[in-house]
Amino acid sequence: MARTEVDRCPGVLSVHQAADGGLARVRLPGGRLTAEQLDVLRLAAAELGDGRLELTSRANIQLRGLSADGPQKLSDRLFSAGLLPSIAHERVRNILASPLSGLDEQSLYDVLPVATALDEALCSRSALTELPGRFLFALDDGRGDLTDLHADVVVRAVDGGALLSIGDAATQVDWPAVPGLMLAAAEAFLGLRDREWRIAELTDGPLRIFQQLNLQPTEAPPPPSARITAGRHGSGLVVTVPLGSLTQPQASVLTQTAPEIRITPWRSVVVPGKARGLEEVGLITTPDSVWEGVTACAGRPGCAKALADVRTDAALLLADPARGAGGGPGLARVLGASGRVHWSGCERRCGKPGGEFVDVLSVRDGYLVDGERL
Ligand code: SF4
Repeated sequence: MARTEVDRCPGVLSVHQAADGGLARVRLPGGRLTAEQLDVLRLAAAELGDGRLELTSRANIQLRGLSADGPQKLSDRLFSAGLLPSIAHERVRNILASPLSGLDEQSLYDVLPVATALDEALCSRSALTELPGRFLFALDDGRGDLTDLHADVVVRAVDGGALLSIGDAATQVDWPAVPGLMLAAAEAFLGLRDREWRIAELTDGPLRIFQQLNLQPTEAPPPPSARITAGRHGSGLVVTVPLGSLTQPQASVLTQTAPEIRITPWRSVVVPGKARGLEEVGLITTPDSVWEGVTACAGRPGCAKALADVRTDAALLLADPARGAGGGPGLARVLGASGRVHWSGCERRCGKPGGEFVDVLSVRDGYLVDGERL
């Protein structure tokens, strides 16, 4: 596949100019965020942006509505808070880790320290600044919760060790070797690529990369697939954030809840240990909420391509399903969905979840749900 576009993934220093102002994306390797860092982001959103913290489908955080001098002030604050350890690597620190790692019985291995070691090693290798912003590493604690996200280089905990997978090729490795091998795979990709952004776009990419690593892969066993919903999981609490947008009061309560929280790729938050006061600010701690699994792109007014204010439309329908009375055949699918539902303002479907989901798409005269009228 020959890419003709330039990789425009936003970062903190390469801010995207959206219809509602600057949009900065802050990478959070492993989704980890201390309470102090969350407070820095909260204050930055209040003072430099529109006040909200958007959770992304790669467990990062976005600030929107930044003024012209906002990005410089933001980068200064993030640098002081340890959220910008390498200016040159800021857009390539794309590292997912199972957010419940080490907190419940499903976790075969605590991968969060590995994510931190991988990030530190990544930031020490200057050649890796050339990675495309889409290139993704994933560390799965064994439960298969990251399977749908189709990362380029995946390590999953298995009985007795770690399974390094690239595409459908895999081999078992030892945990201490994991950061070095994942980065060697990324370096091999850089040596093989022309304009490709992902390993899956390279012809025979996985096999050629394993060859460069001097490893003999076999066909990867089918990975497990797990969906994490709100509620308690061992000593961790998964908290749904409606439409993945943290308000000032919600972020403030979370800063007082635990020394560190974890952002998930499902736009929720994991709080290790006990938590109080979350429901009072509109956060959701049970899986039976209408907000469970519902996501939306920016829509109007933030995105100039949007045909509708999808976030407001989704919120109004979920808050009062009777508004949909007289709707089309797609309405029942939206209201009765037990899995993920994603609302999009146009066919690009930004931020859509991995795996299967109910597709709510804005069109000129309303919405289509998997192709049928809402
Ligand atoms: S899906 Fe379309 S409307 Fe929504 S943020 Fe992306 S480009 Fe904008």
